[in-house]
Amino acid sequence: MKSAIYTAVNEGLARALRTPPYLILFVSDTCWMHCAHCWFNEEWKKEHLERRALGFDDYERMARSLGRVAFLSLTGGEAFQRPDIVELATMFRRTARVSRYQIPTSGYLTDRIVERTEAMLQKNPDTPFRVDVSLDGVGEIHNLQRRVRDGYSRACATITALRGLKARYAHFDVGVITTISNVNQHQVDEIGAEVERLNPDGEWMINITRGEPRDPQAIDVHPNMYRRADALIRERTEAGRMPGHGGHQTAKWLTAKNVARRQLILDIVEGRREGGGCSAGALAGVVYSDGEVHACEMLDDPLGNVQDFDGDLAALWRSPRAKALRAKIQRTKCQCTQECFLSTSMLIQPDTWPKMVRARLELAQGTRRGRPGVPSPSPG
Ligand code: SF4
Ligand code: SF4
Repeated sequence: MKSAIYTAVNEGLARALRTPPYLILFVSDTCWMHCAHCWFNEEWKKEHLERRALGFDDYERMARSLGRVAFLSLTGGEAFQRPDIVELATMFRRTARVSRYQIPTSGYLTDRIVERTEAMLQKNPDTPFRVDVSLDGVGEIHNLQRRVRDGYSRACATITALRGLKARYAHFDVGVITTISNVNQHQVDEIGAEVERLNPDGEWMINITRGEPRDPQAIDVHPNMYRRADALIRERTEAGRMPGHGGHQTAKWLTAKNVARRQLILDIVEGRREGGGCSAGALAGVVYSDGEVHACEMLDDPLGNVQDFDGDLAALWRSPRAKALRAKIQRTKCQCTQECFLSTSMLIQPDTWPKMVRARLELAQGTRRGRPGVPSPSPG
């Protein structure tokens, strides 16, 4: 019964909105890192990327087919590696009326990232923009996980430099993302302290290693370490030391959503939550660099390739194949911890709404009481 309702809701939303309002575009296949936790690795690319890479004109055609985009993530690989990233972001913002956009980055080439970020801010003065820099450890642990010699010092320098832009542009925000893996899970407390030092008035987002990472052992994360990171964020937020997202009027709702989402992730990891109700393929979608469209980053079944639809993502999105995949996702009660897709799925899962509202009120009032049972930072 529930899956039939979710199927109808998702199909209705996909039709009404025409294209995913939460759109993730892989605009680059290459990267400055070689992360142990990366699923977007050589083997994945060899298996999946079969067609020519989309060019600027292809993206422009696709942008013209889009309904309103509430959130656009330009990712890869490393999106800042594209020489035309400023023009690409600006074109999407204008053509698809993007409400908010974001670029995740390793933070490796500080000058290039800062220069291109500032150009985007100037060309798109009314559109909230966030750059999220990855910090996966303090010192050598970051370099070990990212498999690059000087990644840590460069990521820190980039966060600091981007914060300089944040002070000058009200529509800009800087976040820090940590992907917890078997490499860095013992260092959660130290990473939390470092993030607070580097980016005290921004959001610290934590991800869990997923998919088939470059190092298969990277996925061995103990839930207690994720719980510990969640507890650290809550403690700091409640104490008013880390106010979370900024840069637009709904930013605090994103922070509240992340509070509820972390609890959801723990419920999923520890088997307390039934599957079903994922909005991937309806509210959210992914386009890889060769134009292949997926409901999410985890499922292998493609919905099709925009190159076969003359760039028209709306036509692909309403195709029988897309409809069948949306139904399959509900029928199989698909479930995972992918953070982006949980965010949009929470919008159609009514049982998560009170949690978000509660978190928002507690953030506003600063009255959230400490919860017992904050675990020790030990994986066993
Ligand atoms: S996780 Fe991201 S930064 Fe690391 S290798 Fe993969 S694409 Fe590059
Ligand atoms: S639950 Fe996860 S794997 Fe399944 S469709 Fe949603 S995002 Fe994809």
